Amino acid sequence: MSAKVLLATNNAKKLTELRRIVAEQGLDVEILSLRDVEAYPEPAETEWSFEGNALIKARAGFEHSGLATLADDSGLCVDALNQMPGVRSSRWAGPQQDDQANLDLVLRQIDDVDEPARTASFVSVVALVTADGQEVITRGEMVGQLTREPRGTNGFGYDPIFVADDQAVVAGVQPLTNAELSAEQKDAISHRGRALRAMVPHLVRVLDLEA
Ligand code: IMP
Repeated sequence: MSAKVLLATNNAKKLTELRRIVAEQGLDVEILSLRDVEAYPEPAETEWSFEGNALIKARAGFEHSGLATLADDSGLCVDALNQMPGVRSSRWAGPQQDDQANLDLVLRQIDDVDEPARTASFVSVVALVTADGQEVITRGEMVGQLTREPRGTNGFGYDPIFVADDQAVVAGVQPLTNAELSAEQKDAISHRGRALRAMVPHLVRVLDLEA
């Protein structure tokens, strides 16, 4: 029987990404989502660090399901905005606003910032809380530049205004925004892909899996 791990998220894209990475590594582990366990109130993300919020989500998942639980917290850190929106990325333009309003606000806020100072990075921190109370944290970053106009329809969040430094090297032609990359191209260089891949050896150890 495969080992089971809960990914404490309702975000279908995060779930697909982790399942793809686990499959690539050939691990015999079943990744469950919040839909697969009894519903519980989602904890408030009250910390000012990605690490703190990822741990809040992973601890809550473990407490309610009894399963080893993974959770991620991520965001966009803009150098000209003193690393904001950071942990407030999903509600930067207000709690009722959407991805488009969030990215429009960032573009307005850095309107007077010229290249090459339009630098930013996506950060993802993944936390694992195991059945015997161990806690492990991994972090991944994707460094890049913010465009002046949104381009592309793939991905989510701030993807249409972000060009990754690594992407420019891979493509060798006009640099594409994250929202112009395929899911696989983005996973290969993304902050979340990096943090999740860094977590794989810990999963192997904690769950006693064959790598
Ligand atoms: P979380 O679900 O609390 O981690 O929220 C992260 C927020 O950061 C998202 O709602 C997006 O606004 C932003 N974000 C995180 N990762 C990405 C990404 O890969 N692309 C675009 N935006 C992202």
